[in-house]
Amino acid sequence: MVVIMKPGYTEEQINNAIKEMERGGVNVMISHGSETTILGAEGNAAGIDIEKMQALPGVERVMRVSEPYKKANRKYHPDDSVVEIAPGVKVGGRKLAVFAGPCSVESEEQITGIARSVKEDGACALRGGAFKPRTSPYSFQGLGYTGLDLLEKARMATGLPVVTELMSTDDIDYFVEHVDVIQVGARNMQNFDLLKRLGKINKPILLKRGLSATIEEWLMSAEYILAGGNENVILCERGVRTFESFTRNTLDLSAVLAVKQQSHLPVVVDPSHASGQAWMVERLSLAAIAAGADGLIIEVHNDPIHALCDGQQSITPDQFKDLMGKARQIAACVGREL
Ligand code: PEP
Ligand code: MN
Repeated sequence: MVVIMKPGYTEEQINNAIKEMERGGVNVMISHGSETTILGAEGNAAGIDIEKMQALPGVERVMRVSEPYKKANRKYHPDDSVVEIAPGVKVGGRKLAVFAGPCSVESEEQITGIARSVKEDGACALRGGAFKPRTSPYSFQGLGYTGLDLLEKARMATGLPVVTELMSTDDIDYFVEHVDVIQVGARNMQNFDLLKRLGKINKPILLKRGLSATIEEWLMSAEYILAGGNENVILCERGVRTFESFTRNTLDLSAVLAVKQQSHLPVVVDPSHASGQAWMVERLSLAAIAAGADGLIIEVHNDPIHALCDGQQSITPDQFKDLMGKARQIAACVGREL
């Protein structure tokens, strides 16, 4: 349930409204938006007397919220959320955020070289996996902690914040200290222990959509993190599994619109994992911006043929530069900037 306060409500009126909700057995979340102040019920609102609530002075309207996600719900928080991933680097809002870098960190020259080049072309953060969730145990598993060290070197060389995937709850403290944005991969979207622990920290979390997760399941996973108290959640649409096998996954751009309507959280699109094919990445990126995404996360490799992971879907730094030029034009058409 949400209670929308009238413009100009008094301190006493809002306190009374909060008390009435608490008497009904819920915790109350207050959202001071640009236009309205909203009281959101956290927990089971069945004990609240709607009619009584509605009649309270200062209360404009009371709405039942049928969706199971509350903190992630736009009804509880009408204004767009903006997540600051490093001083002055924001995801959400008018300016688009582009994260770029290789699938996996491979060496210092590789990661620092790519970081320098994507920064020059306008990326706001560097991606690179150190702990890789591979389908086969015989495939390259990432450089682990060494990879995190190399990401820090690349950050030092360029100033770019780094985003990298966390797979184990054992590593949370280490990631908090060494990483700017913690990625939860598609395969871990419903690792609820991991999500609960990430709710207890303050780091920005990039939450990828699960391999075949519905939009509601995805938002419920975000809810786990938000419910724990961490409000810095960025969603990432990375394609879902369908009957189609031409592409690695099927990019669900309608999910971007749905999530922007249902939730206040920023959403970025990963055209690389969605398509699995480098030649599709540029057009899908442009389409994502046109669809209203708040940014992109793109795999860029200096030598895709020899990449240790996901070379077939990685674009080169030159292709990234071209893409960014076009992305700026599409951004301007939809009232955004890059
Ligand atoms: C990745 O970003 O490298 C990755 C493994 O992505 P996903 O979890 O979306 O498959
Ligand atoms: Mn990858």
